Amino acid sequence: MTQQSSSLVLPATLIRGDGIGPEIMDATLAVLETLGAPFAWEIHKAGMEAMQACGDPLPETTIDSIRRTKLALKSPLTTPVGGGYRSINVRLREIFKLFANVRPARTLVAGGRFEDIDLVLIRENTEGLYVGYEHFIPVDDDPKAVAEAAAIMTRSGCRRIAEYAFDYALRHGRKKVTIVHKANILKALTGLFLETAMAVGQNYADRLQVEDRVVDNCAMQLVINPAQFDVIVTTNMFGDILSDEIAGLVGGLGVAPGANIGKEAAIFEAVHGSAPDIAGQGLANPTALMLAAAMMLDHVGRHACAQRLRGALEQVLREDNIKTRDLGGTASTRDFTQAIIHRLQG
Ligand code: NAD
Repeated sequence: MTQQSSSLVLPATLIRGDGIGPEIMDATLAVLETLGAPFAWEIHKAGMEAMQACGDPLPETTIDSIRRTKLALKSPLTTPVGGGYRSINVRLREIFKLFANVRPARTLVAGGRFEDIDLVLIRENTEGLYVGYEHFIPVDDDPKAVAEAAAIMTRSGCRRIAEYAFDYALRHGRKKVTIVHKANILKALTGLFLETAMAVGQNYADRLQVEDRVVDNCAMQLVINPAQFDVIVTTNMFGDILSDEIAGLVGGLGVAPGANIGKEAAIFEAVHGSAPDIAGQGLANPTALMLAAAMMLDHVGRHACAQRLRGALEQVLREDNIKTRDLGGTASTRDFTQAIIHRLQG
């Protein structure tokens, strides 16, 4: 997207979420306000909050708002257990065809096993085993004697995510794209992914290094030498697993942002869940949601604003050594947020 005029106000949907959601959202909004971010928020409910208010974890009014704004910042949601409710996140991906899940990982906190990790995982978000075609087959008196699941990959879906990943790499000045698969065993399913992504990669081979890696080897290489990776593009389940592994390399879920991108909307969020164990205690780390907000600023062309936010986070974590408990510090959500605002104002 192109740079917007600085006076332009952009309508965007805001979901405060469940558990620690409201706490980290308030922190993020305070920082965005200090930055002068251009969003005019339409605040809507989802998750348990919506369930309690109107009996539906994903109300039509929330869907309509995202349909209108095409842009959302979302705190984690608790999916009600039982009652036949499907994951709200999966439903949002389906409704808005959010085919690309983008998860950047960069070392922000010094002293970990690796310094200077800077890689991006791009996960296909709508196909594979996650289409949810699964059932049990009863045998004799065991109703769950056999479980069967079908995974779906389409050439168009593979092409779409591959093109997105290569374009993303070019747009962000990246050098290499690694296609991660299991085509040695799942020859049709991820063979199609490899074949299609490699064919797309041919069109970029003059500008980007293109390679492929089998997923198990990739998982091992990530913990031995993550610096060899730059952009990784992979299928839904491999991406789900590898992205959490990568989050672990840079300090855990508290610092992992994610973007769900489609042609009809883009939804930005923290990768972690609603953390009910620490909700309401003022302990949550708002970094992941703040980094998601920075991705949202990039998405609307406000790169300078996004960079200022990432810079302030880095200064607070590295130079001021102010950290929340999950990162080994003692700061409350409020103290941490104030430190970032202080850096932005300084
Ligand atoms: P979780 O990510 O909420 O928590 C896992 C652990 O990490 C907990 O110990 C928690 O305290 C800690 N943690 C997570 N985020 C933190 C933060 N920002 N600061 C400090 N510590 C943090 O995972 P869970 O417990 O498996 O899931 C809880 C609920 O969240 C479930 O209902 C699940 O369905 C939901 N969930 C939602 C999303 C989403 O909306 N995107 C993603 C994952 C899980």
